[in-house]
Amino acid sequence: MGFLSVLTMAQRLAAERTPPGSIAVDATAGGGVDTLFLARTVGPGGRVYAFDVQEEALSRTRARLAEAANGAGAALGDVTLLRAGHEEMSARIPSEAHGRVRAVMFNLGYLPGGTAGEGAAGPVITKPDTTVAALDAALGLLAPGGIATIVVYPGHDGGQDEAESVDAWVAALPDEAAQAVLYRYPKRPSSPYLYALEKK
Ligand code: SAH
Repeated sequence: MGFLSVLTMAQRLAAERTPPGSIAVDATAGGGVDTLFLARTVGPGGRVYAFDVQEEALSRTRARLAEAANGAGAALGDVTLLRAGHEEMSARIPSEAHGRVRAVMFNLGYLPGGTAGEGAAGPVITKPDTTVAALDAALGLLAPGGIATIVVYPGHDGGQDEAESVDAWVAALPDEAAQAVLYRYPKRPSSPYLYALEKK
């Protein structure tokens, strides 16, 4: 049957630590899959903050949420979509929520099927400096026992540099800040892999 995909594993680990009514963050809304997943997981009374720098990603996410909300048995938490870089998450998320967030999900890389970035030659990709700044911010927002999941894509142009920055950031995390695990297919070195951090 094979092992769980990194994306499914990230959701599984996040769901276990995100009770109904809680607060969660999607750091890279993209197509909205994790935003919807988190909205279902926190449920009514819960709240999700979802970040993306591209309007196209936010409109895809908005459409996905609207479709789910129309479906039978939908019970979603409130979602706040923010067109902002995830490196600004501490400033953009109200201070009452700081230290109370149960899950922050990162799905790095670029939006599949997205249009090229404004004035740029290629797609809008997440970048080492802002990713690392956002990881620091995420740790600051999490509640003790809360989780950050980071799906890293080493395979595209620029992806290897970002992967090395994330690897170095995790390696340098003090033991007293968080526990970290890595989920990876060692025989497929350019495939995406997952870090999960549980805040202490
Ligand atoms: N690689 C994944 C999808 C990742 S989508 C897959 O294959 O399914 C990553 C999203 O991050 C994109 O929509 C992109 O616009 C967004 N992004 C890029 N830089 C960002 C930043 N600084 N803050 C928040 N989102 C960002």
